[in-house]
Amino acid sequence: MINLTAQNVMDSVAGVTYATDPTGTIISIGARGWRLFAAESATPEIAEREHFIGRNLFEFIAGDDVRAGYERLLDRVRSGEPQIALPCRCDAPSMAREMRLTITPLRRGRALHGFLFQSLTLAEHPRPPLNLFTFTTEFGETVPLLGMCSLCERVCVDVDRCSDVHAAWLDAERYYANGGSSQVRISHTVCPLCFRRWVEGWTGAPPPVF
Ligand SMILES: [Zn+2]
Repeated sequence: MINLTAQNVMDSVAGVTYATDPTGTIISIGARGWRLFAAESATPEIAEREHFIGRNLFEFIAGDDVRAGYERLLDRVRSGEPQIALPCRCDAPSMAREMRLTITPLRRGRALHGFLFQSLTLAEHPRPPLNLFTFTTEFGETVPLLGMCSLCERVCVDVDRCSDVHAAWLDAERYYANGGSSQVRISHTVCPLCFRRWVEGWTGAPPPVF
């Protein structure tokens, strides 16, 4: 017999790991991965993982189309898919980070008790700090709006044309190299490329409109 609690296991596994109930309410967060994530993200206010217990995952997913995509993913798991894996970016100001997110059902017998989310870092590339990823809101409503893809984290300057397949989507380094400013507001969406690759299959919806 193993004398470990489920929380002991959550606290030991690699990557950012958290569990939700079937509706998406967060019931457990693994300490090890969360500590590293908070330290590397330059956002100390997220270090206290207890603040997130009891809140719903969907509060933290920006953009209606992205939320709909995640709902569709959870529906697939609810309907019996054993696990879903998808690549995503989760950049910090000084680090470009390629990750792989897996969503696994937590079942006892056939009954679904929740979901296990685990994000593992596949590759990291240090870079000079890019303030785009500090997500500050201090600039208010008067600064320009910038579209940011929630999956690849590229940005689109011309927000009226972001859903156009010919619109330019730039990674953050290229954005700054072209003279881009950090004094912008971010509107989260999904770029046409990621939409075709990942979201179309989740939702069957038309491309996002800004
Ligand atoms: Zn994208």
